[in-house]
Amino acid sequence: MKNEYGYQIPENYKPSPYGHLFPYGEDDIQAVVDCMRANATLSNGVHMAEFEKKFAAYIGVEHAFAMDNATNCLQMAAYLIGFEPGDEVIVPGYTFVSSASTMAKAGAKIVWGDMDPDNWNLSPADLERKITPKTKAVVVVHLLGMPAKMDELMPIIRKHNLILIEDCAQAIGASINGRKVGSYGDFACFSFHTAKNITTLGEGGMLVVRDKKYADMVAGMRFVGTHPYEETPERKARYWYPAMSCVDFDREGLWPCNYSMPEPACACGVSQLNKVEAISESLLAQGMKIRNAFEDTPEITFCSIPEGVRHVHHQFVLHFEGANGYDRNDLLDITTKKYGIRNIVQYYPLYRYPLFVRSGFGDHDCPVLDAWWDNSFSFPWWGNMSESDMNYFITCTKAAIAELKARAPKA
Ligand SMILES: *Cc1c(COP(=O)(O)O)cnc(C)c1O
Repeated sequence: MKNEYGYQIPENYKPSPYGHLFPYGEDDIQAVVDCMRANATLSNGVHMAEFEKKFAAYIGVEHAFAMDNATNCLQMAAYLIGFEPGDEVIVPGYTFVSSASTMAKAGAKIVWGDMDPDNWNLSPADLERKITPKTKAVVVVHLLGMPAKMDELMPIIRKHNLILIEDCAQAIGASINGRKVGSYGDFACFSFHTAKNITTLGEGGMLVVRDKKYADMVAGMRFVGTHPYEETPERKARYWYPAMSCVDFDREGLWPCNYSMPEPACACGVSQLNKVEAISESLLAQGMKIRNAFEDTPEITFCSIPEGVRHVHHQFVLHFEGANGYDRNDLLDITTKKYGIRNIVQYYPLYRYPLFVRSGFGDHDCPVLDAWWDNSFSFPWWGNMSESDMNYFITCTKAAIAELKARAPKA
């Protein structure tokens, strides 16, 4: 059988469906079922408390709050910061939409940060260049599982007294000299969406909060304002009145939301967290195999991983240096059509999207990202990839490069 482009694809090759990186284990399933069978509350209960406590200990922070997704964690952080008209927030142009959309929704003006050429996250030099008297906050994203250059970013953030929001949605367990990402920021978010390194039944997030003032507010804020009543003698005598603990507690005039993570998802989170280290090690080993396989191929390059940095490899992005004037699109034309590989390109710079352009956030000055993006692409990537799948992708990518090199140079 030939494919629609007239090429023969190996019989045993099936592109991976989009799903989670690792299937759930019986332990995860048991934890969820036990929670469902317990006939206890399924909202804001014991599993949430346990998940938050263990998660905070794992990251090395004091306050962590389990929420329904990381987008809402970022939304909560942006709301608590309270942007005034004209306030600017610096967000990398190369990231998932939520890192920026949540700030725009909260009324901030987005200023796009450029990419660091060897780390691929926010450039420290560019951050410093983009700071103005109106800059209130910065979103530092540890994209693809790679920690941003925190040792260089932190002195700049402190010097200018900026609020730091770390987006660790793709980087649970990533660290710099043993210090985990998520422990640097005033706020940090993690995602347990189905595609992330660990997942809580499809959707989930964790918000880390440094300041005690905010930490005291978040538990109620994400649960429609609910808070424990004080057991006063008067309350004891008339326990039925008032019935709603949501509305008699003033959180500096802020409106609450309902962003809670349900109990079965929290139970699943505890079980997944038990194996996060094994998951990271497995993805890291897989990533290193692919890197090593391209050592003899100077046309393919990767972000550099300095001594002491732990990159947890959520997704696998590489860069094509070009061959004979041919670019990424020419390369992917061959890998897709001739070899049937599903390479995609993650992520399109956000300032190029119509929504951001129409909202007034099309202006940007990100020459490194603009030049880099045109030749970057994602390698097929899932957990426990078989040797034969991996070798097929590597061999075909190299063959496609050889084919481009054998052609007449592209004008
Ligand atoms: C997935 C992701 C988010 C959003 O996470 P959700 O839990 O899906 O809302 C935010 N930022 C980055 C970098 C992400 O990859």
